[in-house]
Amino acid sequence: MTTETIEFQAEARQLLRLMIHSIYSNKDVFLRELISNASDALDKVRLAAYQDKDLDADASDLHVELVPDAEGRTLTIRDNGIGMTRDEVVELIGTIAKSGTADLLARLKEAGDSEHAQELIGQFGIGFYSSFMVADRVELTTRKAGTGEGVHWTSDGEGSYTIEPVADAPQGTAVTLHLKASDAEDQMHDYADRTVLRRIVKTYSDFITWPIRMPAEAPAEDAAEAGDTIEDAAENSADDTAAQAAAPETLNSMKALWARPQKDVTEEEYAEFYRHVSHDWQEPLETIRLAAEGTFEYQALLFLPQIAPMDLYMRDARRGVQLYVRRVFIMDDCEALVPEYLRFVKGVVDAADLSLNVSREILQQDRQISAIRRRLVRKVLSTIGTMRDEQPEKYTTFWEQFGRALKEGLLSDPDNRETILGVSAFRSTHDSEGAETTSLAAYTERMREGQDAIYYMTGDSPAAIEASPHMEAFRDKGYEVLLLTDPVDEVWVDAVEGFDGTPFRSIAKGQVDLQTDEEKEQAEERKTEFAGLCEWMAGVLGDDVKEVRLSSRLTTSPAVLVGDEFDMTPTLEKMYRAMGQEPPKVQRILELNPSHPLVTGLRDAQSGEGAETNAELAETAELLHGMALLAEGGELGDPSRFVGLLAGRLQRTL
Ligand code: ADP
Ligand code: MG
Repeated sequence: MTTETIEFQAEARQLLRLMIHSIYSNKDVFLRELISNASDALDKVRLAAYQDKDLDADASDLHVELVPDAEGRTLTIRDNGIGMTRDEVVELIGTIAKSGTADLLARLKEAGDSEHAQELIGQFGIGFYSSFMVADRVELTTRKAGTGEGVHWTSDGEGSYTIEPVADAPQGTAVTLHLKASDAEDQMHDYADRTVLRRIVKTYSDFITWPIRMPAEAPAEDAAEAGDTIEDAAENSADDTAAQAAAPETLNSMKALWARPQKDVTEEEYAEFYRHVSHDWQEPLETIRLAAEGTFEYQALLFLPQIAPMDLYMRDARRGVQLYVRRVFIMDDCEALVPEYLRFVKGVVDAADLSLNVSREILQQDRQISAIRRRLVRKVLSTIGTMRDEQPEKYTTFWEQFGRALKEGLLSDPDNRETILGVSAFRSTHDSEGAETTSLAAYTERMREGQDAIYYMTGDSPAAIEASPHMEAFRDKGYEVLLLTDPVDEVWVDAVEGFDGTPFRSIAKGQVDLQTDEEKEQAEERKTEFAGLCEWMAGVLGDDVKEVRLSSRLTTSPAVLVGDEFDMTPTLEKMYRAMGQEPPKVQRILELNPSHPLVTGLRDAQSGEGAETNAELAETAELLHGMALLAEGGELGDPSRFVGLLAGRLQRTL
């Protein structure tokens, strides 16, 4: 037999080091992780045996078995599930394939203090490696169902592991932990102690639908032999099976949580189940249950997490909930059940009338599945709404983590657009100092008399938007403006017409009409007064602008650039560039403030009352346009020319 020694992948090694130096306050959870893996493996073998009748797999009496050995100081967690091939062991146990690992480790390094580190790693899930919190050495023996040869893997969690073939391993996986001596003295955390194991299973894994058994106390000599060598272990396991058959003890109640009456399930049980399905570390933020009876029967148990997973905004992010058919696990990440914008929702749907053989492709087309999905979506959205009304703090957490994702639904789910808008939160000038957000309902309630639109502006940050000249008249007249700073905001505002009958209107686009009748009259007069200036400037600026006109949105700035009603915003242009695409060229409108001395001065000079030469006036017009560009955070077409002109002007003032 050949034994290979293989180095852990660098990232796996770092994560292991963290695990060993135990950043977790609660080590007990290693057992939950190993049982969770075993349970997944049992689900998989049952399904594989069902779907492939030729598969040489044994799906009778599927179970998990805990074998503590107090003398030898080991604990073995064994399942007769799907098992792993050699390559799978190397890939799944020797590396960390999860996206975001490198990023996580970088942040962990930064975090330094253990509490924050714990929080971070919790976002990531801990899994198999958590066994090194309690063990100096871990052995894993596994045989993939349907294959002949097994694999033995062992590591002390330092830098490498060894792997070798085993001739006669039973189907499934056995993980043997050589327990740390330090835990032996701690009565509550002696993992070779049966009472301790009973307690941990009850606390963390009671809902697992497979039996978790513990053999009755074995005679002393037998126990000492267990796990000595691989061959012995295999033999012992055969003996053990015989012994257990006589007196196994089942540690969990095995009741599927979603099938139990809601009132009989505790918060803790939901939390543990959530951890099992989500591979998350925390408690869920919210638990959602729903059920339907009659022609199409199903039950669902869904969760909103507290913290967004690292890959929430990555293209290959996992999504979807687990699908069961009459308590039988069918698949993970069933995308057909939840739309992409709700990809953070975790949980289980158990449908009564589906075939156990359904494939992902079939599910995408299935009418019953779409019906469940529609109902899940509505239920999740209404839960978010209720959360806001009744638990504002929880809602704030939710919104900070998942608001951006949810708003994608404004584009992808037109049917629920109004509902999504209704449960969304927005920064606004109503409370621009604080971080408080507003709902659209609250906004419309505060709308001023005669106001016929929900005003918004998109930009990089609330501060940048507030500093923009576009805000001046709105601030002056006391109109509330939504400050939209998420990339997705740039896109949905063009697709969504309004909320509750009130249209959205950008304050940086088109004409604004905030004037009183009197002001309008005045404006008409001014228009004639400035007509010559506007025409002349349009000529001077040429292709740089679409039009030059007077503004009603400025109080202090001399000029501002605005888009036409359907033009692309500067932020969206920047996003195009960031993605490596050249945005279509948009000509913008230059609006002048007729009350600003620079503008009136330019008008007077241009109409021949001033002393400046024509070339100089044209430069002033150019500078004015450049200033408007800079004021909105835009980029100058020719920065060095602008700086040259400005420097020349400044020199003359000295
Ligand atoms: P996760 O469960 O979040 O995927 P783990 O570190 O717990 O991460 O496990 C990594 C992978 O190793 C699992 O996804 C599974 O494919 C495999 N694995 C772990 N334990 C077992 C087991 N008992 N039987 C079969 N496969 C297993
Ligand atoms: Mg796991």
